[in-house]
Amino acid sequence: MKAQQCFSCGAPQGMSHFEGRAETLRVKGLERRIDDLSGWECQMCGEVELDPGCSDRHTNAGDELVIAARKMIGEEMKRIRRKLHLSQKEAVALLSGGGHNAFSRYERGEVLPPKALMLLMRLLDRYPHLLADAQTLAEGADLRGFKTTVHKEHETLTAS
Ligand SMILES: [Zn+2]
Repeated sequence: MKAQQCFSCGAPQGMSHFEGRAETLRVKGLERRIDDLSGWECQMCGEVELDPGCSDRHTNAGDELVIAARKMIGEEMKRIRRKLHLSQKEAVALLSGGGHNAFSRYERGEVLPPKALMLLMRLLDRYPHLLADAQTLAEGADLRGFKTTVHKEHETLTAS
């Protein structure tokens, strides 16, 4: 069996070479299985370094999985928004805030929505009648939209 010093914990002969291992990556209920992995693993500290080709395959599978998960979440966001009869613009104004195209970016899977928004959407999916309450409660909830009145210098009030 091939062995070498661990580059992480320094254990002499700590790392041994393995082959033919499979790993399953999971994110948000999606899975990708990667077969035929080989590399080095330390028996002392658990450090793993995959052989170069395997490392690339592993990274690519992880990236694909994250993209697939974002698309899946995006589809879910779109489904719930449509069920609530909201346009993307209305959904931004009422629920998410952010740029005017925030929802379209979530739905295309470009960006993962914040957890709080995802949770809100799922609650509204389960209890759609709460949308009316949300609309009432949202009024005055966003304090970023101050209205400003400018009082000019030396301006005096006049009684009429
Ligand atoms: Zn080690």
